[in-house]
Amino acid sequence: MSRVYNFSAGPSCLPEEVLKECAAEMLDCNGTGQSVMEMSHRSKAFEPIIKDAEAMVRKLMKVPENYKVLFLQGGGSTQFAMVAQNLGIHTGKAAYIQTGVWAKKAAAEARHLGVQVDVVASSEDKGYSYIPKVEKIEGDYDYAYICLNNTIMGTHYEYLPDTGKIPLVADISSCVLSEPLDVSKFGLLFAGAQKNLAPAGVTLVIIREDLICELDKCRAGTPTMLCYKTHADGESMYNTPPCYTIYVLGKVLKWIEANGGAEGMLKRNKEKADLLYNYLDSNDGNFYHATAQKGSRSLMNVPFLTKYAGAENEKEINDKFVKEAAAAGLVNLKGHRLVGGMRASIYNAMSLDGVKALIDFMKKFAKEN
Ligand SMILES: *Cc1c(COP(=O)(O)O)cnc(C)c1O
Repeated sequence: MSRVYNFSAGPSCLPEEVLKECAAEMLDCNGTGQSVMEMSHRSKAFEPIIKDAEAMVRKLMKVPENYKVLFLQGGGSTQFAMVAQNLGIHTGKAAYIQTGVWAKKAAAEARHLGVQVDVVASSEDKGYSYIPKVEKIEGDYDYAYICLNNTIMGTHYEYLPDTGKIPLVADISSCVLSEPLDVSKFGLLFAGAQKNLAPAGVTLVIIREDLICELDKCRAGTPTMLCYKTHADGESMYNTPPCYTIYVLGKVLKWIEANGGAEGMLKRNKEKADLLYNYLDSNDGNFYHATAQKGSRSLMNVPFLTKYAGAENEKEINDKFVKEAAAAGLVNLKGHRLVGGMRASIYNAMSLDGVKALIDFMKKFAKEN
């Protein structure tokens, strides 16, 4: 069977070169006679794998010296809790900008853990189709929180709010290394790896060292495993890390480096997204339209509706689109139920050819329907 173009929002496609390397090393990695899946995480064979992965994160994201790079588990969703428990500890107040499902979940988790959450801006009024402009966040907040790329709504910040001395925390799960990012502007960044970096199972956390506190300074009841210091002190090996996922992550980072690093990814991603949005906004766009507003559009996730949106046969047309696309080798295009329609996730590993194939299919489908 030939490979398909996979537009899944996550877990999502990985570079084919990386998959081939992993396959070649499956039974014997680096002459050890073992698969990485079988290695002790404390072994001489595994040590360079995790060290190299960290070094590559530092290099590609230009991580300043005073930040720790951690490989954790529990996905982006566990970070919703860890952020609140480890950072919401002085005034117990935090500012959240609500731009969609993931930002809302993060705020709800902080509230659940007793943090006083102020939603300083929200785009809920227009179905989260844009990013509200927040010039400045001021107040006695322990941290300010944003979701930089909104995977479900297909929106992305084109600016960063000025938070002064308040540490800015960002969920970058669906845009990590899709573009250059100035790490020094943030107190903490996190990303579940399964969108842009690796298979599911590892969460990348980049945290400024002064924000790492002792377990007994975290919010009451914080488990040892949810304290950043535990993992910083243990160099991401306090307990067994997701070894194989970290190994694949290292390979994906080398692939990103070979393709121009963060700058190269931005160029590649802009080219793909421009092509798709230009088509959606074009005259054929009488058939389709993008749901995210201009000025807030994600380069990674592109939700779109057809002219049948709101009509009685909308579901039928959407189902037909998804089914016929899959038959043409374009899979996982079903939209999220909150937005409806379709969504094309075009992460780093998606090729320009994949996007061109999608547009060709869309043109044909528009003509026939
Ligand atoms: C996918 C996603 C999450 C949730 O990640 P899990 O690893 O499934 O917990 C959180 N935030 C964003 C922006 C996401 O895209």
